[in-house]
Amino acid sequence: MAPEQRGAQAGLGPANQSDKPGHECGVFGIVAPNADVARLTFFGLYALQHRGQESAGIAVSNGRGIRHHKEMGLVAQVFNEEKLRPLTGHLAIGHTRYSTTGSSRIENAQPFVVESALGPLAVGHNGNLTNAAALRRELLTRGVGLTSSSDSEVITQMLAGGEGRTWEEKLRVFMVRAQGAYCLTVLTREALFAVRDPLGLHPLCLGRIGADGWVVASESCALGTIGAEFVREVEPGEILAITEDGPRTVARMPAPRPAECLFEYIYFARPDSTLHGTALHAVRVAQGRELAREAPAPADVVISVPDSATPAAIGYAQESGIPYSEGLIKNRYIGRTFIQPDDQLRKVGISLKFNALSDNLAGKRVVLVDDSIVRGNTSGPIVRLLREAGAREVHVRVSSPPIRHPCFLGVDMATYPELIAHRLSIPEICAHLGADSLAYLSLEGLIRSTRRDPAAFCRGCFTGEYPVSIELVDKEVFELR
Ligand code: AMP
Repeated sequence: MAPEQRGAQAGLGPANQSDKPGHECGVFGIVAPNADVARLTFFGLYALQHRGQESAGIAVSNGRGIRHHKEMGLVAQVFNEEKLRPLTGHLAIGHTRYSTTGSSRIENAQPFVVESALGPLAVGHNGNLTNAAALRRELLTRGVGLTSSSDSEVITQMLAGGEGRTWEEKLRVFMVRAQGAYCLTVLTREALFAVRDPLGLHPLCLGRIGADGWVVASESCALGTIGAEFVREVEPGEILAITEDGPRTVARMPAPRPAECLFEYIYFARPDSTLHGTALHAVRVAQGRELAREAPAPADVVISVPDSATPAAIGYAQESGIPYSEGLIKNRYIGRTFIQPDDQLRKVGISLKFNALSDNLAGKRVVLVDDSIVRGNTSGPIVRLLREAGAREVHVRVSSPPIRHPCFLGVDMATYPELIAHRLSIPEICAHLGADSLAYLSLEGLIRSTRRDPAAFCRGCFTGEYPVSIELVDKEVFELR
């Protein structure tokens, strides 16, 4: 049975349209004996703000206890001098969250901080457990109370009350039980643990700061921001313990295969972050080059939907020989319209977000490069804006394949009924956008742009084939709600 049919059977209809499995989050952790770790975490989170804009939090240990502060809002709204001052210590974790599993409420903000038999514990999580519902039921049956709908609280309680005499043992037990996507930063009184799921779905890296400091972050861009140097990626399945003595690999849990998220390469991670030694900017330029080879367009100018599609537009221009120019100016202070919680606001947000530069567009045939079309709410109004600014033709080119399936593993991809490429064919989408032509990058072209082994990736949102059992995913995700 096709996953979408299973989704329909499980009740994934229009009534469930707001159900969005997954967390988009940024995690950060630091051990630095002689530094203001809360302030460094604040700036690290600032660099990871693109990974989640609904809540932010920091927890700090001074070796005796853990203090924390978290609130709804952007990092800079949540923290100021007064909020940072009490957070003293030499170990810290931080988190930025965009709620996709669990609603947008303070109860779901992270880090989760609890007291346990082994002392205080704080957890930050990026990803989405696909067996969270079963794990949740198990906790409730054991009499563990839960305060939120978030799978990250399930993780925290599994660690706090789970089997094992040490944190290391508890983490191992957790990894045997957990399915799906998780990058964790776990703060105890004495140590920071960094954990990446065995499939390696989302990125996590290790850096060095000063003579005796260590940092972990969802993306390498956060290292540069605080003057840390990239050391290496945390390996899929790895549990890394970091203390004042430095990092130590505690375990490497085996995985049947790697399954890195392709969407990190397309859109999600910042272009100045590196994955496997290559800056994502270069990967995205290569996507644009592939796209120009696969889907040429007769045009006078190539423009991007800023900022995320700009590297791909530059690549398209380089390969096609059509000059690149700016056609849309983005109001940087509006933020990501995608983040707006309801559809109506999202549509309004788009026209608030961009102005067209008619000098660069009037009378021209335009190639408009975007990195992805998800719900299809963004591109149509942009095509209209370009025509109003005088563009003669608008050819939309997308630097990823059509997204026909939801993500159950940590990216907000919407549900089947919301995904425009699930409902409509490419010519129908083109008509819906009001474009003169529309073409997407092929999956092969996308994977070629990464210069990695094609077997390394999760391609679930393009093919519906997930690296974890889809039965399990459906059952858990739909029962959760
Ligand atoms: P739409 O097709 O209207 O749903 O939105 C697609 C636009 O949102 C593209 O321009 C992307 O750059 C951006 N986008 C794609 N995926 C995401 C996501 N998971 N979170 C936030 N923005 C996204």
